[in-house]
Amino acid sequence: MLTDASMEPIVHRERCYRCFRPAQTCYCRDIIPVRTNARFIFLLHPREALHQRTGTGRLTHLSLPGSRLFVGLDFAMNAELMDLVFNDHFQTMLLYPGSSVQTAPTINAAATQRDERPYLFIVLDATWHLSRKLLRLNPWLEQIPRVGLAGVYRSSFRIKRQPGFGYLATIEAVCFLLREFEQEKLIRLQTDPAKLLLVFEKMVSVQESFIQGRGSPYRAPTNPPE
Ligand SMILES: [Zn+2]
Repeated sequence: MLTDASMEPIVHRERCYRCFRPAQTCYCRDIIPVRTNARFIFLLHPREALHQRTGTGRLTHLSLPGSRLFVGLDFAMNAELMDLVFNDHFQTMLLYPGSSVQTAPTINAAATQRDERPYLFIVLDATWHLSRKLLRLNPWLEQIPRVGLAGVYRSSFRIKRQPGFGYLATIEAVCFLLREFEQEKLIRLQTDPAKLLLVFEKMVSVQESFIQGRGSPYRAPTNPPE
């Protein structure tokens, strides 16, 4: 299989094993750590984990010190993850739409007394199709209260057809979530969450230049295991 004008076989391209991008588009040096007392867990479908051309879950994870990323289908047997999620030290919430979704302002409005425990947000980094699949495979996620964004935002992501959450890229959704929770004084931030968007904007512009110039720059080297 051959790609652009260089006629270089795609399968031989070097890959950065931190951000999982091809070495030529490694974004590691553009990542600015965003420090907060909120904790994050990213759950990736194996298919998304390998196709990281436009996925932003891993970049968000790398931008949030202390966050965790798990790749899999059925996570119930992952004792470490279950210990984190069902842990009384945190207020755990799932960033996902639903009929009883809460937002930072509704949490504040409903609170009769302040819960000082840090928030732990679970984020499914997947297309709508794959995130529905992850929900089906992980019924324990139904026990987690759902959180969403109070504001309406527009994505700068013009490449991917089905971004993960509310038509926003994962990294954008997390940025806006952090901002809204800080505005309601539910979390503390040591870094402006807008810093998350810098690496994202770079990624979008790199992708656009590839699309306008020479077509898709690269693909995952092999089909991921099901
Ligand atoms: Zn990298």
